[in-house]
Amino acid sequence: MKLLQERIRREGIVRSHDVLIVSHFLNHQLDPQLFLAMAKEWQKRFKGKRIDKIMTIEASGIALAVVAGLVMEVPVVFAKKRGSVTLDDDQYCATVYSYTQKKSYAIRVEKDLLKPGEHLLIIDDFLANGQAVLGLAEIARQAECVLEGVGIAIEKGYQPGAALLRERGLDVQSLAVIRSMDPQSGAIEFDEAEAV
Ligand code: 5GP
Repeated sequence: MKLLQERIRREGIVRSHDVLIVSHFLNHQLDPQLFLAMAKEWQKRFKGKRIDKIMTIEASGIALAVVAGLVMEVPVVFAKKRGSVTLDDDQYCATVYSYTQKKSYAIRVEKDLLKPGEHLLIIDDFLANGQAVLGLAEIARQAECVLEGVGIAIEKGYQPGAALLRERGLDVQSLAVIRSMDPQSGAIEFDEAEAV
């Protein structure tokens, strides 16, 4: 998606080979107009699929998912990362390993919020090693929901996540796919096949 690529080029900061900072429009300050354009693009790409609910993970996925939910007219559920006072029996739970933080954390969704047979679309800001999406997919599996696809804002295509998810048969639609990043020059190369 050209619009997103341009924003990444203009305002993205290459912190390291693996870490892109997009605090000016996606992760800290948020650009609702850009989010709306992105949500419409996901709607186009998942057209024809039954989507009953969008699922994401706190915190960065929430804003994107809400705009997507508004456009697709479906509710949004987000997995919580923190522990909860509610009993574990009432929650679906999965473990996510974060390569950037080098630690695992639990994600939880109240069982009440996902009904067996519901068709879900996962939305998230970044796809790197695929662990966050796999955790959400595990929750969808426990809830006996049908996972229709995965909408990602920025995929770092040189990291293994996208291939891992596609190997599992998931329909992954990333709006910008980065082929390489150079922390020295700040240069970012995109996979132009995604630049609609
Ligand atoms: P994965 O589970 O695919 O390895 O990583 C996905 C999660 O890690 C995303 O939800 C995102 O919050 C975070 N993440 C991964 N790579 C980046 C990055 O380059 N920049 C930022 N800001 N977050 C990232």
